[in-house]
Amino acid sequence: MTDVAVVGSANADLVVEVPRRPGGGETLIGGELRTLPGGKGANQAAAAARSGAATAFVGCVGDDGNGAFLRSRLVDAGADVSALASVEAATGTAIILLTPDGENSIVVSPGANHAFDLDAAARVSSVWEGAPVVVLSLEIPHETAFHVAEAAAAAGSRVLLNAAPSVLVGREVLQHCDPLVVNEHEALEVLGASESDPDADDYARLAQRLLAAGARSVVVTLGSEGALVAEGSAEAPEIETVPAYRVTAVDTTGAGDAFVGATAAELARGRSLREAVRFATAVSAVAVQRVGAQSSYADRAEVEEFIA
Ligand code: ATP
Repeated sequence: MTDVAVVGSANADLVVEVPRRPGGGETLIGGELRTLPGGKGANQAAAAARSGAATAFVGCVGDDGNGAFLRSRLVDAGADVSALASVEAATGTAIILLTPDGENSIVVSPGANHAFDLDAAARVSSVWEGAPVVVLSLEIPHETAFHVAEAAAAAGSRVLLNAAPSVLVGREVLQHCDPLVVNEHEALEVLGASESDPDADDYARLAQRLLAAGARSVVVTLGSEGALVAEGSAEAPEIETVPAYRVTAVDTTGAGDAFVGATAAELARGRSLREAVRFATAVSAVAVQRVGAQSSYADRAEVEEFIA
């Protein structure tokens, strides 16, 4: 039995430290190449599995070495990969230049993630349709993600949509989201608003607007400030800010994905959204104290020790 089906992307993160960003036509010598498991979907599945949920990852990798690498890392985390297809395309890849200013430069080649079309989703629908919790993010074709949201909700699943990378999302999709999980920037984009919006810094108001736009519940993640949870009616929502743990962050890569995966795992255990967000806050606080995305995620026992 699957508790959580994560439908999304898997990428090999190719990471090189460079002294600065290269200019046009310039060749720079960087440090040692590291290949790390990444992609929002795969990260979220790893976090859900490590949080103790029976988790299936649903998506596409290429029939190549990086695909085999990503598959094995998901298995290490405890995820079921029987609905992870290998297709004739290069595995999704993120080329990450780490610069001393901390402003990393990233180029993503979606590769096999783009092969996750409606037909591919239909072929493995027995894995995601009717799973108690279905998690979606937007590094796969949007048409597929939005279709899965609708079909999973119709089959009785609780749908968590992480609208990242951000995009305008219509009511026909938002009405299935319980919760919609976004950061501050994504909240604006989902609403079709810009950074100059008068509510741009008023996260409670943004969450209320997302409820009014159709979302059944909303979580806005606020980095080291924690996360805001909004539920109930758009006219009089119940809003709570869950503070982040005060820790020394060394690498926040994949913190949002750890948060999403852990939230889904807790919802599948029958916890309320607020309880789930409290646990997810601890999972991501542990993750930011370590380097990497998936490689920074702790097992449930370690997180419980951290909370205690
Ligand atoms: P990303 O896309 O970089 O993975 P995000 O923008 O989706 O991240 P954030 O809001 O940065 O998500 O982080 C998600 C959660 O991780 C936060 O709600 C918070 O609980 C936790 N977190 C992030 N940064 C820190 C930090 N510096 N200290 C403690 N907790 C943190």
